[in-house]
Amino acid sequence: MKSNFKKQTWSINTKGTPTIIKNCSKCGKQCEFINSGNFRVNANHKMLDVWLIYQCKKCNTTWNMEILSRTNAKSIDETSYKMFLENNKDLAEKYAFDINTLSKNKAVVDFSSVSYQIQEDITNSILAEEGLEVTIQCKFQIDVRLDKIISEKLNISREEVKKMCQNGLILSDSNNNIGKVKVKDGITFQILGNAIADKIDNSSQLEEYNTLAVNH
Ligand SMILES: [Zn+2]
Repeated sequence: MKSNFKKQTWSINTKGTPTIIKNCSKCGKQCEFINSGNFRVNANHKMLDVWLIYQCKKCNTTWNMEILSRTNAKSIDETSYKMFLENNKDLAEKYAFDINTLSKNKAVVDFSSVSYQIQEDITNSILAEEGLEVTIQCKFQIDVRLDKIISEKLNISREEVKKMCQNGLILSDSNNNIGKVKVKDGITFQILGNAIADKIDNSSQLEEYNTLAVNH
C-alpha cells in the first residue's frame, strides 16, 4: 500500500433486511420469512424474554427469533427496554443482521434478499493521477465480495478487477485475494490511476535514454 493517495469513502447502504429460509408449517415447505420489524416482549417475575417476529412471505405464519431469553430485567437498561416495546426500527434492523443472534437461532439467512447501493463522498470523486485510496463504510455485514463492489463502481468486469489486482493496479492488504474478501466495514484498498501506468512506461524509457546518453 502506498501513501499520498487521494482518500475516498464508499458507503454501502443497505435496503431491507435479510430474509430467513425455514420450513413453514402452514405452507408445508421451505419458505422465505421476512422481518416484521416488531418485537415480542414477555416480562415474567423480573425475567425478560424478547423475540423479533418474522412472517412467512406467503401465508404470514409467524416465527419468533430469540433475542433475549430468561434475562434478568435489571440487566437491561431502560432505553433498550423502551426500544423493544416501541418496535424501534433501527434495533430490529440491527438484530436482523446480527450474525450472533442469527446463528444462535440456527437461522438460514438469505443475504441476497438485501439490496444495496454504493455511495461515494463527492469531495474527491475524480480518480487522481496517482490513484485513489478507498475505505469501505458498511453499517451491516452483507454477503458480497469486494471485487464485485469494485467492478460495479468502476463499471468494469470482475475479470478486469482480478487482472488489475494481479498487475498491481489495485492494492490491498489482502494482496491478490480481493476476489475472496467479503465487504467489511473499514476495509481499505488502493486503485492506481491509469495515468500512472503511462508514467511508469515513460519513466523507464527515460531511464534507458539517460543510460544511453551516459554511455556515449
Ligand atoms: Zn407459509
